[in-house]
Amino acid sequence: MQYRSLGQTGLTVSVIGFGASPLGNEFGNLDAKVGVRAVHAAIERGVNFFDTSPYYGRTLSETRLGEALRGKRHRVILATKGGRYDVTSFDFSAKRLRHSVEESLTRLRTDVIDLYQLHDIEFVPVEGIITEALPALDRLRDEGKIRFIGITGYPLPLLQNVAEHRPVDTILSYCHYNLINTTLVEALVPFAIKNGVGVINASPLHMGVLTEQGAQSWHPAPQQVHELGRKAALVVRDKGGNVARLALQFVLQNPSISTSLVGMRTEREVIQNVSLVGSEPDEALLTAVETIIAPVKDINWQVGLPENHEPGTVTPR
Ligand code: NAD
Repeated sequence: MQYRSLGQTGLTVSVIGFGASPLGNEFGNLDAKVGVRAVHAAIERGVNFFDTSPYYGRTLSETRLGEALRGKRHRVILATKGGRYDVTSFDFSAKRLRHSVEESLTRLRTDVIDLYQLHDIEFVPVEGIITEALPALDRLRDEGKIRFIGITGYPLPLLQNVAEHRPVDTILSYCHYNLINTTLVEALVPFAIKNGVGVINASPLHMGVLTEQGAQSWHPAPQQVHELGRKAALVVRDKGGNVARLALQFVLQNPSISTSLVGMRTEREVIQNVSLVGSEPDEALLTAVETIIAPVKDINWQVGLPENHEPGTVTPR
């Protein structure tokens, strides 16, 4: 495993992080024992950064991760979130966040959360995030319930805007740095480096588009993204490669990304993914995929309140 600094937190995180949304059945039903084995396989192979949320499986992911980490909590850096609780249920009030932290501590069977993040802030007016939610997290950090503070969401300009108003330790965005979209490195990384903010790249497989099995029906990317992702997967397979492998090799080689969070369902996926650390993507395969993906490269879709949309975004599927 390779490790990188997470901004100025002093934490050193594995370049592959364990995304625990599949533990909440977000990518299809997952047998609890299979999920636990995946968590243990990741820890044994040096993965030390784990990310979950009460939103994933409506608390199921946190509960399962807490069980899987029994006796192993000291070996991992544990990140969870608050503010988003269901598809359309958001509450970033100070009161709810305080309760939410307590609930997460219980489910995760721990007495401190290493990184606590406001989950998908684009769904609410930005003022409340700056004037109420982040100050509430400052107090929880002072009380020792959480160690570091982050924000997560899809629109990059919004995430930077919030971090400019109120310093945060980390910014997580998803589907913004992979073979289909690389805007994270141009739009956010320079700001993050200058201000010592840790960058967490979530969904390096574009939430399943860059896999042979394809994405779930809930995936919001426009249809053409799915079609060209499928085409890329087939072409890479015809040339003897695997699109998920290529996609991970592509993101892992960028040193400005502290960690890439991959949603992993099984021990097999963990072993495959960890084995890629330190390997280079095949240039011919990269070129083939870039050519196929070109018509949808860097497409962003609308998420959250209209006032928080990224400029130039398209309607989701
Ligand atoms: P992802 O791009 O990591 O893709 C996950 C899918 O890829 C799953 O179906 C998984 O089974 C599959 N997969 C993993 N390794 C594979 C392999 N070697 N071969 C074939 N398929 C493979 O998408 P994700 O899970 O949405 O993102 C990763 C994590 O990032 C999440 O679990 C979550 O922790 C975090 N995240 C956070 C936010 C947010 O805070 N707003 C949003 C998205 C993701």
